[in-house]
Amino acid sequence: MTQLDPRRLIPRTDQLLALPAVRRARTRLGDHVVRATIRDVLERARRGELAPGEIEAVVVAAVGARTASSLRPVLNATGVVVHTNLGRAPLSSAAVEALISASGYVDVELDLATGSRSKRGVAARAALLTACPAAGDALVVNNGAAALVLATTALATGRQVVVSRGELIEIGAGFRLPDLIASTGARLREVGTTNRTHLRDYADAIGPQTGCVLKVHPSNFRVQGFTAAVALPDLRALTAANGVVLIADLGSGLLAPDPLLPHEPDAATALSDGADVVTASGDKLLGGPQAGLVLGRADVVARLARHPLARAVRADKLTLAALEATVCGGPAPVTQALHADPAQLRARAKRLAAAVGAAVVDHDGRVGGGGAPGVPLPGCAVRLPEAAAAPLRAGDPAVLPRIHNGTCLLDLRCIPEPDDARLLSAVRTALATLNGGQH
Ligand SMILES: *Cc1c(COP(=O)(O)O)cnc(C)c1O
Repeated sequence: MTQLDPRRLIPRTDQLLALPAVRRARTRLGDHVVRATIRDVLERARRGELAPGEIEAVVVAAVGARTASSLRPVLNATGVVVHTNLGRAPLSSAAVEALISASGYVDVELDLATGSRSKRGVAARAALLTACPAAGDALVVNNGAAALVLATTALATGRQVVVSRGELIEIGAGFRLPDLIASTGARLREVGTTNRTHLRDYADAIGPQTGCVLKVHPSNFRVQGFTAAVALPDLRALTAANGVVLIADLGSGLLAPDPLLPHEPDAATALSDGADVVTASGDKLLGGPQAGLVLGRADVVARLARHPLARAVRADKLTLAALEATVCGGPAPVTQALHADPAQLRARAKRLAAAVGAAVVDHDGRVGGGGAPGVPLPGCAVRLPEAAAAPLRAGDPAVLPRIHNGTCLLDLRCIPEPDDARLLSAVRTALATLNGGQH
C-alpha cells in the first residue's frame, strides 16, 4: 500500500501567485517580496509546521499584512521630546503635506515663469532668512554634522581649526567632533583646558595657519564649578581683528530664543553676538526633517556653497519641502510638546489612569537629542507595572514607555491629544496580556 506523502499536496508557487488576494498584493508589493513571503510559508509547510490545507490562507494573510515599508509608527510616551531612537522630530502637518506634494515632480530647481533652471532650494532659503533676519544667507545640507564638515572643509582644509578643549565633544552614535574635523583634512588646534579657556588662549593660537575659529555648543553635558569660556562677542573682536572666520556650531536649531530654554543657543543671538556663520540641525529643536543649516554672512555661505563637497551633502527635495513648511507652518510638534500645559497633561493622564485603574505620578520630561541637558520639563505620568512595557512596545499602535525604578511610566507630553483613544486601547490590550499571563 502506498502512503500519500502530505508534502505532495503542497501547492506550487505559481498556484499561490494566482490567488486573487495575492494578485492584488502584487500591485502594492514588489514581486520579490511576494515570492519571498510565499517561499517562507512553503518552507514552514515542508517542515511540517503547517498542514497543506492551511497554506493558502496563511499566504493570503501574510501578504495582506506585509507593507512596503516596515518602519512602524510609535506613540512616544517617554516624555523625551527629541528622541533620537524614534527619529527625532515628528513633523508638523504642514511639513507632512509638503512632503506629499513634493513626492512627485516639483520645481525644486526650475523657474516655472521662464522655464529655465533655477537655484536649488530657494524657497527653503527664503523661509530661513525670513525667520532669522540676522542671517545674510542660508544653505541647507543633509544634517548638522554635514554642515560642520562642509564649513571646516571649505574654510580650513590644510589649515587649523582653533577650538577650546572644553568643546571637543562626542554627541553619541558616531559624532566625535575632533574625529569629524580631522577627517576633513583640517588640523585641530586645541586651546585652553577642559574646564577653562580664556581669550588669550585663542589669541596665542591664531596666526597664518588659522583657517577658522570654531565655538561649539557642548549640547549634552555641562561643566560646573571652576570654569571659564569665552563668549562670542569677545571672540568676535579677536577674529575680526585677525580676519578669521568665526563659526558657531549650535546643534539644536532654534532660530530665535525660547524663554523656556534660556541656556539653549539660537541662531539669531549667535549671529548678532558675532558669529560669522552658525551650523545647526533641522530635526532637533527646530522640529523639522533631518537637515543641516548653515546661516550667516553671505560671502562665507557662498564659499561653502561653491565647495565641491556641497554637492555631496546637498539636501533632497523632500527635506527642502518639509523644512520650508516647518519654518512657515504652525507650531511644530516638538515646540508643542516642549510648551505643553502641565495642567492639561495632568487632566489627560488622569483620564487614562482612571480608565485602567492606575495612578498618576509626577514626572519630568526632557528635551532630548543632546539639547538642554538637566533641564526638566515638569509634568506627570501614568504608572503601570514594569511588565506592561514589553506588550506596549509590541502592541498596535506600538507604545514606547519609560521604564524607571521598576515601573512603566507613560508621559503624555509627546503624544498628540487626538491619539489618547488609541493609547488607551493599546494600554488596555497590554494590561489584558499581562493579566492573561498571570493565570
Ligand atoms: C547634534 C549636534 C550636531 C550634529 O547634528 P546632526 O544633525 O545630528 O548631524 C553637531 N553639533 C552639535 C553641537 C550638536 O548638538
